[in-house]
Amino acid sequence: MIAWQAPTVDAVYVLAIIVFILGLRSMSSPTTARRGIVQAGVAMLIAVAVSLLVPGLSNFLFIAVGIGIGSLAGWYWARVVQMTAMPQMVAIFNGMGGGAAGAIAAVELLTSLNNGVTAGLSLAGAVIGSTSIAGSIIAFLKLQGWLRSKPIVFPGQQVVNIAVLVLGVAFGGYALYSLQTFWLLPFFVLLLLYGVMLALPIGGADMPVVISLFNAFTGIAVALDGFALVNGPLGDAGYAMVVAGTLVGAAGSLLTLLMAKAMNRSVSNVFFSAFGATEESGAGVQGSMKSIDADDAAAEMAYANEVVFVPGYGMAVAQAQQKVKELADLLEARGVTVKFAIHPVAGRMPGHMNVLLAEAGISYDKLFDRDEINSEFPNADVAFVVGANDVVNPAAHRQGSPLFGMPILDVEQAHNVIVNKRGQGKGFAGIENDLFYKDNTRMLYGDAQAAIGQLVAALKKLS
Ligand code: NDP
Repeated sequence: MIAWQAPTVDAVYVLAIIVFILGLRSMSSPTTARRGIVQAGVAMLIAVAVSLLVPGLSNFLFIAVGIGIGSLAGWYWARVVQMTAMPQMVAIFNGMGGGAAGAIAAVELLTSLNNGVTAGLSLAGAVIGSTSIAGSIIAFLKLQGWLRSKPIVFPGQQVVNIAVLVLGVAFGGYALYSLQTFWLLPFFVLLLLYGVMLALPIGGADMPVVISLFNAFTGIAVALDGFALVNGPLGDAGYAMVVAGTLVGAAGSLLTLLMAKAMNRSVSNVFFSAFGATEESGAGVQGSMKSIDADDAAAEMAYANEVVFVPGYGMAVAQAQQKVKELADLLEARGVTVKFAIHPVAGRMPGHMNVLLAEAGISYDKLFDRDEINSEFPNADVAFVVGANDVVNPAAHRQGSPLFGMPILDVEQAHNVIVNKRGQGKGFAGIENDLFYKDNTRMLYGDAQAAIGQLVAALKKLS
């Protein structure tokens, strides 16, 4: 039960908790997601502000400096970040949450090592929080291209990883048993190392699952810290952390499972199989790539009954969503049925394509997810792939391919496939794409913004 020595503070925490829950609920639909982000931000603001009123709080200057630095850095990076760099930012911001949880746990451990329950909970929070920050930093470096994105593997890796984890936890356990804070040092060092080693072998197309899992870790670490704080002098603040942490932990865990399902892989498989470590042999590649120019591509689309657009990361890089909308509108004005096929991991963050297409004003009823649209491709006259690669790679159907088993958009089943990309660049997984060599595929080379601009111009000439 919430301690009642400061009823106003407690009531405001309850308010913050309610707004958190409403925010999360709003985030479950693309139409209300923006509102959800604002609600969650307001809830966090309320929770932080009221924490300053918790009886017994001191060190206000220190707190103000921390809040100032964090807010300024967060505000600045969120303003300047490119849409395409969003996953790195999510990874690193989320990692900071894990780091904060680990730091709170460290303070609790240093001050309450002799309080069995608090220390036990803090130790668990520290294990998860440290793993989350270290792993998130590696994910950030890989996504940013500052570290090799392919899996970094060595023989006996899993055994070494487990040994590091077990040894780290053993040091923590010994610190609790002996009540000597010194042992917390190797405990934290090994747990941070474990986070690094957990993320190193992950590469290829698995990053979304990993980011989401570390996000869930952060939530769980915060909730554990909250439980630990509840026993201390700032107890009430702990309740808000328990609720917020549990929400993040639960939502992150569900998202992880959904993403893993979308990739047709188990979470353990993502972490322990070093997906993408094998070099692509290009075994399914037959024939050669055939190009098409904008005039021919426009004519093919203009006289089609149905065109299915398949956006991917390249559309995001080129910020071509407005051009895509313009093209789709022109086609619809000619009586062509236009649909959009959305793969759950297209782009570089969950829901990336939905966000961009919504920004361009394309209505949600034209967007279809993989399960809905795959049966539609055989009826489509043209599948127009805009900067997508991995999510349309039929190599995923071929045993032995590093992509084997990943559910893809079966665009090759359309009568004609037009692929827009700049050149011979591979996708995020670094795998050769069989689709580009198929007989019914034509390559429309160029930056998506410029190439679709040419299509629009060509289409207007036809009208
Ligand atoms: P890919 O990253 O597989 O491929 C993108 C393609 O876009 C490239 O082949 C590139 O080819 C082309 N491209 C790049 N810039 C442009 C441009 N300006 N104009 C036109 N084309 C361009 O994208 P997908 O969306 O198919 O797949 C996403 C991948 O990212 C998956 O492997 C997924 O697992 C991974 N991922 C997804 C995350 C998520 O949460 N959604 C997070 C992290 C990773 P070229 O260079 O020749 O132009």
